[in-house]
Amino acid sequence: MFIELDGWMAKLRFSASHLIPDHPKCGRLHGHTYAVSVRVEGTQAGEFIIDFIELKDIVKDVCNRLDHRVLVAENDPRLKITEEQGHYTMEILKSCKHYVLPRDDVLLLPINSVSAEDLCKYFLNEISVGIRGNGPANNITGLHVRVDEGIGQGAGCNMDL
Ligand SMILES: [Zn+2]
Repeated sequence: MFIELDGWMAKLRFSASHLIPDHPKCGRLHGHTYAVSVRVEGTQAGEFIIDFIELKDIVKDVCNRLDHRVLVAENDPRLKITEEQGHYTMEILKSCKHYVLPRDDVLLLPINSVSAEDLCKYFLNEISVGIRGNGPANNITGLHVRVDEGIGQGAGCNMDL
């Protein structure tokens, strides 16, 4: 059995900027509205697998962290990121482009790129931590997450819990 949240319908969304270094189109800084959909598999503990409100709060917290930020993948080998006087300089090594951005506008993420795939893995990990952090949930056996980059395209991944 599972329960599901549709990111678009349940308003689990955020808007953010990113770029994919060296990509002919996506290499320029641009933005998307993203939606995060979640499926939790398990058995009912009492009436619920997990309370919808509890799960929504976990997902919303992660969305809020990324909302209206410039997302930067700090493990991307194609970038050199330096911080100085309240600003980040992001250098795209191959094309010698530089972006200088206020630190508060940027969120550095511990991922390899700001693709839908890598964002999905990030959300999967963060949501699993949130579910475990709310106490033992031995009835929950699996977690699926899909991150849509605009309507109609997205990346999904899953883990056993
Ligand atoms: Zn994009």
